[in-house]
Amino acid sequence: MHSAAAFRERTSGISMTIEEKVAKTLAELGAADAQGVESAFAELRRAAEHERAELIARGASDEGERDRVCKSLRDRWLARKGGLLSLADEHWLKSASKGIKPVAGRQFNEFRRFAACLEFENLIEAVPLQQAAERQMELSLSPEIVRPTPRDLTLPGFCRPAGSIHPISRMRREIEDIFLNLGFRIETGPEIETTYYNFDALNIPESHPSRDDWDTLYIDSKTLLRTHTSPVQIRAMEKYGAPVYIITPGKCYRRDNPDSTHSPMFHQIEGLAIDTDITFADLKGTLDFFAKKLFGEKVRTRFQPSFFPFTEPSGEVAVSCFVCDGKGCRVCKESGWIELMGCGMVNPQVLRNGGIDPGKYSGWAFGLGVDRFAMVKYDISDIQLFFQGDMRFLEQF
Ligand SMILES: [Zn+2]
Repeated sequence: MHSAAAFRERTSGISMTIEEKVAKTLAELGAADAQGVESAFAELRRAAEHERAELIARGASDEGERDRVCKSLRDRWLARKGGLLSLADEHWLKSASKGIKPVAGRQFNEFRRFAACLEFENLIEAVPLQQAAERQMELSLSPEIVRPTPRDLTLPGFCRPAGSIHPISRMRREIEDIFLNLGFRIETGPEIETTYYNFDALNIPESHPSRDDWDTLYIDSKTLLRTHTSPVQIRAMEKYGAPVYIITPGKCYRRDNPDSTHSPMFHQIEGLAIDTDITFADLKGTLDFFAKKLFGEKVRTRFQPSFFPFTEPSGEVAVSCFVCDGKGCRVCKESGWIELMGCGMVNPQVLRNGGIDPGKYSGWAFGLGVDRFAMVKYDISDIQLFFQGDMRFLEQF
């Protein structure tokens, strides 16, 4: 008779417990070849799996009971002296005949690895008795459903996809780093502002068009979503006095309809330097240094007169196109120049509003759009792409 079949015949009819089986040798169990040995170990493994499943299903009424049950099961299988694993080692492996020893060794090592991973302690939780009874019922009805598959340690690990820095954050950090290295500090303020900090303190009169309902998102007549980060400049002057060197990154809001260059929410960074003997030359030198750091040593800067209520004199800064070197291309719209930002010397009235004596101190300020910088630097034609959360776009950064 085939030995696997012989093994089954000898063991199935008579109800031999797993303890009784490991007390006998493989030869006594009729396992005389590889198949017979495999069947014997397969049965051992099934028994362990079944007890493990029962343990999960039964639960425990409290932590103490859980610990006791887990310990007794662990001892039953893994105890060095008298545990089922060591009995299998003693009776099945050590006393195996030469012919089946290699296969018995392989099978035993496999089972030992499996048993070591049973982690009885982690399988059981303290559950109310009612729930435990339901689980027990479930197990007796359909043991194959609740029987857990043994953990397969050879499966590949769970890999979380790595994210990336959003292009706006990336641009903002790059700009911040340049000014941090120059000794500026980062200052932030509320996005919901008062009309005083957003307009009045910045010398923007009641009649100025930017205060119009059509340009600004008002919460009530005295409160609004800030239209620029300039209020932070006033707050910083009040907080630190002079001298002060800050940049103010943050979100701003305007009543713009979204299109490829406008968004009702956008990002700004403003800079403010106030000290004794600060002149327009300091402003030019700083912004020229900044442009070269950001766009490359080759670029030149251009300052043109402009007007802002909070600076006097005011200027617009452009940088020579870093793509075509000023010859004219798609990025600079064939002009050779890229408009960067507005700037100027802080209006003495604004210094006074911030509690700083304009007779003693002077300062300069600038304001730039982070979104626009990112569009220019990364060659992005639509500002909306930044805020739509489309992974196909964001994955490119
Ligand atoms: Zn160009």
